[in-house]
Amino acid sequence: MSQEQLQRVQELIASGRYAEARAILQTIDHPEAARLLETLTAMEQATSQQPAEDDRQPGATPGGDLLTRLQQRRREVERRAPIRTEADGTRVYDAGTYQMLWDCQYCGTTGLLGLTHRFCPNCGAAQNPDSRYYPAEDAMVAVENHEYVGADLICPSCDALNSGKAEFCGNCGAPLTAAARAKTLEAQTRAEGEKFASSGSRDVVKEKFEAEMTRVGVRKPGGAAARRTPAWLPIALIVLAVVICGGIVAALLATRDTSVTLIGHSWTREIRIEEYAAVSDSAWCDSVPAGAYSISRRQEVRSHRQVPDGEECSTVRVDNGDGTFRMEQRCRTRYRSEPVYDDKCYFTINRWTYRRVATAGGQRLEEPYWPQPALACANQVRLGCEREAGRSEQYTLIFRAPEDGKTYECPVAYDVWRGAALDSRWNLEVGAVLGDARCDSLQRAE
Ligand SMILES: [Zn+2]
Ligand SMILES: [Zn+2]
Repeated sequence: MSQEQLQRVQELIASGRYAEARAILQTIDHPEAARLLETLTAMEQATSQQPAEDDRQPGATPGGDLLTRLQQRRREVERRAPIRTEADGTRVYDAGTYQMLWDCQYCGTTGLLGLTHRFCPNCGAAQNPDSRYYPAEDAMVAVENHEYVGADLICPSCDALNSGKAEFCGNCGAPLTAAARAKTLEAQTRAEGEKFASSGSRDVVKEKFEAEMTRVGVRKPGGAAARRTPAWLPIALIVLAVVICGGIVAALLATRDTSVTLIGHSWTREIRIEEYAAVSDSAWCDSVPAGAYSISRRQEVRSHRQVPDGEECSTVRVDNGDGTFRMEQRCRTRYRSEPVYDDKCYFTINRWTYRRVATAGGQRLEEPYWPQPALACANQVRLGCEREAGRSEQYTLIFRAPEDGKTYECPVAYDVWRGAALDSRWNLEVGAVLGDARCDSLQRAE
């Protein structure tokens, strides 16, 4: 939105020609124009609901007031440029600098201003930076054009509060090279629509006492002598869990050697048969295979995209340590998932398809043979014709353990199977817990 356009709109509003201003705004495709339009509408409604115009200042034109508010709105829009963007994409906006509050611990005056009242206006006592607190949101006092020079320095000789950039104490002249900085309060955060409460006046003496107790070790930080979980407990639990899991795995892996006798043979030979058939299938229309026919298409969700959908904001108050705090608005873009549609094609296609298996087999030591399936119009590429699509064979030895009568089956290679005589002795490892045969350990006994 250009400056000329904005100025023209302002002039029109100033002379009360809202309709023309609206017409111009409607032709501009720009978020600012949209916001101004929105504001204009809201204000027109507000004006029409309040016909009482007697509180208007004399001389003000009907549009003048509106223009001021629109200009104010425009300044707000312009101010909404983030002061920084964090690594996670959070945009941080400046929401002003305000005074911390403090209470005088000598005369009991409360709600003194952190920046303005460096001394108690009632009794003259110096401000103790440890007594600062955040005000309630409704009681915040803004500081215009605040120059932040770091947290206050506390003179090591006389405890006087000095500006963050002072080199010598303003009270006693001592150098501030080794001076401590004023301590700061933890930042506060609130969600959109909520209000900050006062963080409450502070009991400086009690805090000092508790800090001292923590320092000498009588009190644990963050709670009154709280019983904490011993540091070794989680580690001990992890070790215990590892030992138990390891034990279970070891038990499952453990085997015992078993002497077994061969009591039987079995074999199977299979041929997989396919048929050239018309089958239904579907694919995204940009990748339909050649040869597809009877195609119909339908819109379906192919993927999702993340669309920006407003933003989520929270407000943070950060203690500057110099009697002020800064307020920041932190906003992140919210996203919603939106389906992306595409054409899905449903079609028929002729292709080789699994049809059946022809099987031959036996339960004794004999010469195995392949099944002889009858194939319909074998190997021709016509609907209803069949073809072979792979062969497989399996040879199994059946054993019995003489001591407990349990039987075990092991698949073996053809040569081993063909050469294994009934009643021959074999060694086999068997799972200690589950009693399962570990067939890769199978060996003929000497
Ligand atoms: Zn006082
Ligand atoms: Zn000093």
